[in-house]
Amino acid sequence: MIKKKHCSLNNNYVEKHFERFFMAVPKRKTTPSRRGMRRSHHALKTANFIECSNCGELKLSHHICKSCGFYNKKEVVSKTEDMDEDDLGSDN
Ligand SMILES: [Zn+2]
Repeated sequence: MIKKKHCSLNNNYVEKHFERFFMAVPKRKTTPSRRGMRRSHHALKTANFIECSNCGELKLSHHICKSCGFYNKKEVVSKTEDMDEDDLGSDN
């Protein structure tokens, strides 16, 4: 805190120049080129689906197959007959 007798700023001056003293303000205008360069990384990429080697269903690579439970030609998650699709999908 600045001591009152050393403070030469009056309230009107501070209010008028509030942005300059208390807010973070960009120094320069962002040009369309710079904005475009920043946004060049914003595009969404499609998920890498591959065919399951066991059942042929589309699955994410390096993930367990959701339909048969196989990974790397081995059964990792057993999909028994009494389990319904509804029991697998919904956690809530
Ligand atoms: Zn599969």
